[in-house]
Amino acid sequence: MKAAVLVEQPGRLAITDIAEPEVGQGQVKISVSACGVCRTDLHIVDGELTEPKLPLVPGHQIVGSVVESGPGAERFAVGDRVGVPWLGWTCGTCRFCRSGRENLCLYARFTGYDIDGGYAEFTVADERFCFPIPEEFSDIDAAPLLCGGMIGFRALNIAGDGERLGLYGFGSSAHILCQIAVSQGRRVFAFTRPGDSAGQEFALSLGAEWAGESGDRPPEPLDAAIIFAPVGQLMIDALKVADRGARIVSAGIHMSDIPSFGYDLLWQERSLHSVANLTRDDGEKFLPEAAAAGVRTVTTVRPLDQAAEALDQLRSGEVEGSLVLQVRS
Ligand SMILES: [Zn+2]
Ligand SMILES: [Zn+2]
Repeated sequence: MKAAVLVEQPGRLAITDIAEPEVGQGQVKISVSACGVCRTDLHIVDGELTEPKLPLVPGHQIVGSVVESGPGAERFAVGDRVGVPWLGWTCGTCRFCRSGRENLCLYARFTGYDIDGGYAEFTVADERFCFPIPEEFSDIDAAPLLCGGMIGFRALNIAGDGERLGLYGFGSSAHILCQIAVSQGRRVFAFTRPGDSAGQEFALSLGAEWAGESGDRPPEPLDAAIIFAPVGQLMIDALKVADRGARIVSAGIHMSDIPSFGYDLLWQERSLHSVANLTRDDGEKFLPEAAAAGVRTVTTVRPLDQAAEALDQLRSGEVEGSLVLQVRS
C-alpha cells in the first residue's frame, strides 16, 4: 500500500510502498478515506516530540471504512464508517484508567506516534477506541473533529463555563471550538498572530464577537482562554487580560517555555492548566454536540502524495481552518 513514512527525527515524510497492516486481536482494518493533519504531526516530524515508533506512519484524525475485523472484534461490520483518534490504546488497570482519566494512562499508546496512523491507504485500530461518525459530516469534514475537535472540546470543558472565552491561535481546533462555544451561548474573543487580518476575519465569520492580535487587550476581561498556538508567551498574554477566577488552558502537546511572571498576574484565583490527550468519553460527548451545533469545518484538501508539503504549509501558518489529506476519492 501507499503510505507517507517518517524514518528519522527530524525528518521529512516520504511516499513509500509498504506492506498492508495485519489486523490483530480486537482490531479492525480500515480503508482510509481521509486523514486530518495536526500540529502534533509536525512536532513529531520535527523531533519536538521524541521517541516515536520508527519508521512511522503519522496521522491520528482518520476517517475510513471497516474492511476486516480481527479475532474478538465484533463492534463494527464490514463497510461501517469509523473515526480513529489520537488515543489508540490504554491499559485499563492503572490508577488513572481506573479513575476515569484514561487520557493520563501510564501505558497509553497513541495513533500516529506509538502505532502507525492514517497517512496510508490502510490502517488497523483497536475497535474500542474508534468512533462512529455522525452522518451529518462528510469524510473530509469529519477528519478534523477527531483531534482538533475532540481535544479542543476537552480543553473547553477544563476552561469551565465562563462566558467570555479567549481563543489564542485561530487554526484547525479553534475554528471548530469557536462554533461549539457560540452554540453554548458563550462570547468568543479571537487572537491571531500579528498582522493576520484574514485570520481575524475568519474568526468573526464563525461567530467570534471580537478579533485582534495576541497581546491586544480585548474590550472586556476574559473568564477563560484556550491557547492553541505552541507559544509560551501566550499564557502570559492571556493572564494579563483575564478576570478574577479565570482559567487559562494550553491545548497543545508542545509549547515553548513560559516566561517567568509576577504572582500578581495569578493572584485572585486565576489558574494555568494543560490538557493531555482525550478520553473516549470526550469523543462520545463531542461528536453528537458538534452535529447538533451544526459545526461546519473549513478544510484545505491535499492528496496523500502531498503529505510532506501539507506539513510545510501548516508550519508556515498559511492554512484557513483544517488541513486534510484525501487518501481515497
Ligand atoms: Zn492505564
Ligand atoms: Zn492532533
